[in-house]
Amino acid sequence: MRLLGKNLLIVTAHPDDESFLCAGLIHKNSVHHGRTSLICATNGEAGKHHLKKPTSAKNLAKTRREELILVSKFIGINRLNMLSLPDGRLNLNKPKFFKQSWTFAKACPVDVIISFGPDGITGHLDHIACYEVAIKLAKKIHVPLVTFTIPNKILSKASKFFKIRRISPHYHDQPLKHQKPNLQLKVNPAIKLEALRMHRSQYQTNPLYHFPKDVAKEILNYECFCYNKASHD
Ligand SMILES: [Zn+2]
Repeated sequence: MRLLGKNLLIVTAHPDDESFLCAGLIHKNSVHHGRTSLICATNGEAGKHHLKKPTSAKNLAKTRREELILVSKFIGINRLNMLSLPDGRLNLNKPKFFKQSWTFAKACPVDVIISFGPDGITGHLDHIACYEVAIKLAKKIHVPLVTFTIPNKILSKASKFFKIRRISPHYHDQPLKHQKPNLQLKVNPAIKLEALRMHRSQYQTNPLYHFPKDVAKEILNYECFCYNKASHD
């Protein structure tokens, strides 16, 4: 399974998911003359814990939309569709999420769908809803689903980092069982760091400040995925 030079359809929940998990892939895909479409289900209006000063959900949604539009241009996304579904409640809006994604996907060239796996990386319920929509979409279009995972090197440490962020009703309370990656891509760390920084409402100076240095380095240099052969049968 090769991801570069393909028609990729990526399904995420929040503006910045794409930068954390696959900004390097998207950029590299454009260099290899591939095309990338992105469905981002929400405007990220619940992402308030990083803000310097309080703002309304409406204003934050507008800001984060604008940020994602700029990031899309920077990393080379060809088609962007923000569905404006409610942040933190994708789980309750799955039929709408699927319907809107299907309408968009039908009009896009798609060789592979890329989204969260059942672990949602962090256990965020919105991410898990993405997986459920993406697997249904992959089956309907008859293309493989490739899911985000984290680099092998930091896999064992991962649950510790994500635990801090999981004290919220937006996360499920089961222990995280991360999928093992079987695809690894070396990416340009400068591009990836800049993409993260462009989500200015979320990250002021160092977007990876809460990770130890070795983990941050790994996140900036490698993007890992799990290709499940049975996903489109
Ligand atoms: Zn997210």
